[in-house]
Amino acid sequence: MDSKIYDVIIIGSGPAGLTAAIYTTRANLKTLVVAGGKWGGQLMLTTAVDNYPGFPDGIQGPDLMTAMRKQAERFGTEFIDEDFETGDFSPSAGSGQAQKPFRVKAAGKDYLGKSIIIATGADTKWLDVSGEKEKIGKGVSSCAPCDAFFFKNKKTIVVGGGDSAMEEAIVLANFADSVTVIYRGETLRASQIMQDKARKNPKIKFIFNTIVTKILGEEKVTGVEIKNNKTNEASKMDIDGVFVAIGHIPNTKIFKNIELDEKGYVKVHDYTRTNIDGVFVAGDVHDSHYRQAVTAAGFGCAAALEAERWLRDQE
Ligand code: NDP
Repeated sequence: MDSKIYDVIIIGSGPAGLTAAIYTTRANLKTLVVAGGKWGGQLMLTTAVDNYPGFPDGIQGPDLMTAMRKQAERFGTEFIDEDFETGDFSPSAGSGQAQKPFRVKAAGKDYLGKSIIIATGADTKWLDVSGEKEKIGKGVSSCAPCDAFFFKNKKTIVVGGGDSAMEEAIVLANFADSVTVIYRGETLRASQIMQDKARKNPKIKFIFNTIVTKILGEEKVTGVEIKNNKTNEASKMDIDGVFVAIGHIPNTKIFKNIELDEKGYVKVHDYTRTNIDGVFVAGDVHDSHYRQAVTAAGFGCAAALEAERWLRDQE
């Protein structure tokens, strides 16, 4: 166990976690960020970010995260680049309250914090169809910026109808021969600007009212079975790559006694407070609505200010 007691332990290192760290360390609070083995969150998997204020020409996702981390480090934030294992906020025997200081575990080691900010984000949601899981990395992907290069001159599909699906399709079209967006509904959910960008691209086609029922291939993807959910007509497509862009699942499994909403996101009580006094939340792990880098950063700031006030009240 690390015997040091931090004022704040921030779990997660996306825009929410890193912004929180910038604020807490600038407020002179001893801060540890449990950053994860793959630190930086979802923006590490993206290319150009055009809607983060302050960058008139856009910025690459990894560059933005590296800049945020450097900024947090400049003020003295400590980092451990290890995966977070558990955060047990169950009441300790007799008191009815979570044990304090809070204890969180990463890479087999316990860390102690007077307060906690949960900023663990959300992970890719997969289709959960036959042939998918074993072919992740062998033709099945959720990250076009990471994997599109491997689909040079190949046929691909993107599943989903939101902004992520449009973005995946646009990125893929820079490499692939063809990109077919397969959407289960009739009217895309994506913002108009993203739809327009995708529709303008001659390589991108759309199939509506259709789901993928099976991913085919032995060693790698060779095709998919699809079904029209209006006519029930089933058919096969010969393709080399499946990009899944159907949303995310909040990373909350590792917490005990943190109240969640019906979709599994951390439930917010009174600004960024959770049901546990002294445990705060920020970013995609609680926000299923906006899910933007800039809103996550804003929530990170809010959680840091709340933690700072709460710590002051404890003195
Ligand atoms: P969304 O939740 O917006 O969209 C998910 C899509 O996947 C929906 O079209 C949904 O269908 C479909 N879907 C969900 N589950 C399944 C399933 N099991 N099988 C088939 N299809 C399924 O998620 P996104 O990741 O696209 O976007 C999340 C947030 O991030 C949004 O707020 C978005 O605006 C933002 N974003 C912004 C970007 C940008 O501005 N550049 C880029 C990427 C994301 P249905 O519509 O029927 O529910």
